[in-house]
Amino acid sequence: MIILYLWMKEKLKAILFDLDDTLYLEKDFVKSGFKAVASFIQNDNGINEEVVYDRLCSIFNSGERKNIFDYYINEFEEINYSINELVNLYRTHSPNIKLIPGIKEYLLSLSKEYKLGIITDGYIQTQKNKINALGLNNIFDQILITEELGRKFWKPSIVPFSTICDKLGVIPTDAIYIADNPKKDFKGPNQLGMDSMRLRLRDGEHYRSEPSNKGFAPAIDVYSLDNLKIEMNRYNV
Ligand SMILES: [Mg+2]
Repeated sequence: MIILYLWMKEKLKAILFDLDDTLYLEKDFVKSGFKAVASFIQNDNGINEEVVYDRLCSIFNSGERKNIFDYYINEFEEINYSINELVNLYRTHSPNIKLIPGIKEYLLSLSKEYKLGIITDGYIQTQKNKINALGLNNIFDQILITEELGRKFWKPSIVPFSTICDKLGVIPTDAIYIADNPKKDFKGPNQLGMDSMRLRLRDGEHYRSEPSNKGFAPAIDVYSLDNLKIEMNRYNV
């Protein structure tokens, strides 16, 4: 009886999720953005779309993250676009992305008993386009793009976490945050006494990252949706 009591935790009231690399794979957004840029360059310059796309992907796959379009433009002098134009196109395109298999059904079942929220960093329009493409507006009670509060309230600020709890009418200790990035996702929840779970998917951008100290560490790591569902049973979910 004692063991069972220790294993089961208090009943949760709200389940909060990150967006990128938690509900869908960010690499799919990257590919979708490269396709949009490649298609634009082809239509405007007659340069083969596949060639552009393949080159952008190979720059990305080489490990470059911040300056991909700079590299591309520097290589191909016949391209007459500014980096900003291509970055804007990438950030504002309507993405072709899909939810991680099985997660929609799981979210719908959770939504019958729990308040559901999303807390995500990123540019407002980019994140809104992803949320629309994934059909998440009707599933979640609250969606908070931290940029809407201001740049200083991006994770690891605690403010978005306390804000969404207020909006959902729950206290942070009755919520859990499910996310993927130990550099920023779990520090806020830890400071507020909110539980957390790291969904560590092999195809995720931060799969190999480790938290720099205990303050940044999730309560638990899970490696698949099935694994996550089993761990959520601890909360009577
Ligand atoms: Mg993420």
